[in-house]
Amino acid sequence: MAEAGSFADRVKQQADIVRVVGEYVQLKKAGQSFRGLCPFHSEKTASFNVHPMRQIYHCFGCGKGGDVFSFVMEMEKCEFPDAIRVVAEKCGIAIPRPRERSPEERKENQQRAALVEMHREAQTFFVKQIEGTLEGKAARAYLEDRGLDKTAMDRFGIGYAPSGGDLLLRFLRAKYPENLLVESGLVSRDQSGRMFDRFRRRITFPISNESAKIVAFGCRALGDDMPKYLNSPETPIYSKSNVLYHLDRAKEALRRSDFAVLVEGYIDAIAVARAGISNVVASCGTSLAEPQIKLLSRFTRRVTVNYDPDTAGQTATERSISLLLERDFEVRVLALPGKADPDKFIREQGAEAYVKLLKEAPPYVDYLIARARHMDLTSGDGKQRAVNFLLPYVQKIPNRLLRSEWATRIAQQLRLEEPVLRAALSKAAIERRSELKIQPELVGRAAKPVERLLIRMLAGGEGLRKELAQKLQQEQLYDGLETEKIFSALVGANLSGDPVQATEVAAALEERDRRLLFEILFEESSEWTSEEAESCVEALQRRRAERELAEVQRSIEASPAGPELRGLLERKQQLMKRLAAAR
Ligand SMILES: [Zn+2]
Repeated sequence: MAEAGSFADRVKQQADIVRVVGEYVQLKKAGQSFRGLCPFHSEKTASFNVHPMRQIYHCFGCGKGGDVFSFVMEMEKCEFPDAIRVVAEKCGIAIPRPRERSPEERKENQQRAALVEMHREAQTFFVKQIEGTLEGKAARAYLEDRGLDKTAMDRFGIGYAPSGGDLLLRFLRAKYPENLLVESGLVSRDQSGRMFDRFRRRITFPISNESAKIVAFGCRALGDDMPKYLNSPETPIYSKSNVLYHLDRAKEALRRSDFAVLVEGYIDAIAVARAGISNVVASCGTSLAEPQIKLLSRFTRRVTVNYDPDTAGQTATERSISLLLERDFEVRVLALPGKADPDKFIREQGAEAYVKLLKEAPPYVDYLIARARHMDLTSGDGKQRAVNFLLPYVQKIPNRLLRSEWATRIAQQLRLEEPVLRAALSKAAIERRSELKIQPELVGRAAKPVERLLIRMLAGGEGLRKELAQKLQQEQLYDGLETEKIFSALVGANLSGDPVQATEVAAALEERDRRLLFEILFEESSEWTSEEAESCVEALQRRRAERELAEVQRSIEASPAGPELRGLLERKQQLMKRLAAAR
């Protein structure tokens, strides 16, 4: 609609969609976008989003979405030319203005940058302590006793916070103002105003955010000091629920294997990573938080939960299962024998034993049924309790067929003859009690993280988009994917040479694809590198090879004539070799 160079295009370029929409809807910043109550349908929780960079809006509830013009057309019930005028007036158009930053925003950015730098220096300090002091030697001995050698210490940046009480403070004081030191959480202040190191006589584990910047520390007491574990508090650069430990190092492996191992703490994550499973992340706390799940879902939607088998761990496991199911994850649960946590188990039984159990980890429903079996199932009351325990999980499964399958399975496994209980289960299988935020049949939830990432790459930013589009098209890497139509529209737009406008690409799509595209464009994204693009392309190449291999296998099984069979077998070998090399 807004042709390049036209007045409409100029208005669109200059209009700030957040400001225009903000005149109709109260918006709050939420990550990279803004959120508010949808003006197009009635709702109590905000699912209407506006993306300032992409200049689009989208409602995850009713699916309405578009650019600043379609928003005004819909709100003012006017035609396109009028919408242009309205937007131009609202924005006092003509003079191009750069996006302004308020002085507060600028100050906050500077402060965050200083805090990140401070954490980097603290990390250097802690590592020096463990490597070069007497106290550090004791810490090293303790770690070695637990099987953590020098290589592991280096790999995970393990350090030591000395017992002195103000050594780090003295190290940092010269460079940073007092208020910033306290703000960082590395330094505490007592009632009299005296400052001291927060972490004393503790082994330090740096906690990095997704972009590998250290934003916090997790610390374990060296002796019997309480608490055993002490972590950084919430700070301007660290929010516990927004960070997954080890994610920065796990990204590639997550994408490659399309599956994650989820453990509780950093010590477990380190043990699992050292066992050769790099796709491990830790929630760093007893339970997984919503934002962490969202973060993880950008890389994979398949996860094996391996929390501690104690009561707290079981509760955390069950809560995490619920949350993951709501986000449409495929969940398995690994409960290690002998009530061991991953670190202990791997130390005692070895990496191989762990990998084996991990591969055999059952789907979450089997885990839950096993838990329910421990309840007294001889009485009607007991059975009722077991069913009540399981019902909420059944209801959380987004797919109706799957729900009904699990209901049958539970009834069989728990030997439920009682018609009342069976009825309760099948009722749960038919309806979902919890309110649905997203209409599943309208959202292409099957789109894999790799596809989603590539789509965001093609839709935004500069750089190597054209090259990427060419590669995807030449090798026909998106043929047969759920997102095929979206890819083909985006690739076409990229190859046309004009700047890519999400709303124009969307206009060429069917409703279902349009919604999926917008949903994907609203996922948080950071700058991407050519290596990341490369690894996504490789993932698609691999997936295509896997598809072809399955086809070849089917043809082989149809027992074709000699020469044809030879050809097929040869092709099979090639594909298997290629797949093996890609692992
Ligand atoms: Zn809506």
